[in-house]
Amino acid sequence: MKMEIIKTIEELKSFLSSLDKHKNPMLNFVPTMGALHDGHLSLVKKAKLYDGLTIVSIFVNKSQFNSENDYINYPRVIDNDIRLLESVDCNVLFCPESNEMDQIETLSNFDTSEFDKYMEGLHRPGHFKGVAEIVFKLFSIINPDNSFFGIKDYQQCLLIEKLRDFYNFKTLLSFEDIVRESNGLAMSSRNLLLSEDEKTLSSNLFNCLMDIKANISSFTDNNSVLRFISNYTKNMNIEYLDIVEDGTMVPLSILDKSKKLRACICCRVNNVRLIDNLLLN
Ligand code: AMP
Repeated sequence: MKMEIIKTIEELKSFLSSLDKHKNPMLNFVPTMGALHDGHLSLVKKAKLYDGLTIVSIFVNKSQFNSENDYINYPRVIDNDIRLLESVDCNVLFCPESNEMDQIETLSNFDTSEFDKYMEGLHRPGHFKGVAEIVFKLFSIINPDNSFFGIKDYQQCLLIEKLRDFYNFKTLLSFEDIVRESNGLAMSSRNLLLSEDEKTLSSNLFNCLMDIKANISSFTDNNSVLRFISNYTKNMNIEYLDIVEDGTMVPLSILDKSKKLRACICCRVNNVRLIDNLLLN
């Protein structure tokens, strides 16, 4: 089946309502902002394992960018994205213009303030409100049965779970592992903005997380971890390194190793923001 490329909400709705439910029992959805890489494609391949239709959206959502420059510089390579999606047999690409998504009423009563206190939320004011708005709109239009997100955006996964429950969307949620370059650097659309040397330097982010994991038994509190990674922080502009109990986002000061712990890190390399995280035990 040739991939459908749909640009308007009306067209998408009419396409979805024309589907034969016996042939396409489920809608399996992967939201993205494009500049696709193997991390995104791993989500599409996962979605393809389910019966029914796989829909990928590409939309660079301005409201989740807290920096105008970051929004302007965000890579946009739609022709390459189409080629990659066709190579994994994606069924539908929904790639609306921004004014198209503005038409839909946004949510007003979903509270993201808890998310704004920690890690990504703390460093990117308004980011999670923007994410919640766009995912609400996409879920409302598509009403998927299954939706796929990457654990790379760990806090985002927690937000989507809360949003799904708050609005009673029927979708099941799948959170998938981080796909990495051979040097450990988590794949990211923003890696396109890095030189080869900067990519090599950025792989330290993962080395740092692996080093923390290897030594987790020797740490009692977050400060001892911060002291331990000071060798890495000399070369990298670390925005935060927090350890949380897996499934939550409140940074721990005392590390209780009877709990499942996850380290979350963010740094800037040449003003490109990179995030990563790793389960420690
Ligand atoms: P984005 O296009 O950055 O909004 O990402 C779209 C989806 O792909 C999100 O659910 C991300 O968490 C996920 N994703 C991004 N990078 C990776 C990666 N390296 N491995 C797995 N999933 C990823």
